Amino acid sequence: MKTKLNKIAIALGGNIGDSQAVFTSAISKLSKNGLKNIKMSALFYSKAESCPPDSPDFTNAALIGEWAGTAEKLLKLCQKIEISAGRPEKHAFNAPRTLDLDIILFGNKIIKTSNLQIPHPRAASRLFVLKPLADIAPEWIFPDTAESVRQIIDAH
Ligand code: ADP
Ligand code: MG
Repeated sequence: MKTKLNKIAIALGGNIGDSQAVFTSAISKLSKNGLKNIKMSALFYSKAESCPPDSPDFTNAALIGEWAGTAEKLLKLCQKIEISAGRPEKHAFNAPRTLDLDIILFGNKIIKTSNLQIPHPRAASRLFVLKPLADIAPEWIFPDTAESVRQIIDAH
């Protein structure tokens, strides 16, 4: 039987350490664990928002790829990779981090469970998520609002 691949988008962020190296290593781990046809955006830089005072600036990026498993499995994998990048499993809200991996889109699915919400609930309000995503997937339509990444950015 042919497995259905879901097109997925992940936002990467970090503000401790060599984010470029951390992102490269995260992509290699995603690939080793089954994410196919990965395409990565350029790196973007932004000031820390809603973070403790004196938080270092952020490096952000986005990637798209194709995933054969469930969204829940992808979340588990992302959390494992965050921990292997040195992010403590228990961390304060918006504390500086080596790596944050947020699932932004999962095909055209809308998911709302206790530990997973897709589209990511804050993605559409965050230019540091939208701009990297527009670099690689400007026409992708958010299924909840029926607007493309480009349209959401233009409305900001
Ligand atoms: P943040 O990304 O807001 O800084 P965390 O990375 O600590 O915060 O994530 C907090 C929780 O968000 C995770 O435990 C996870 O279960 C939940 N979550 C809900 N939706 C998503 C999503 N789309 N992608 C990643 N995490 C999500
Ligand atoms: Mg996160």
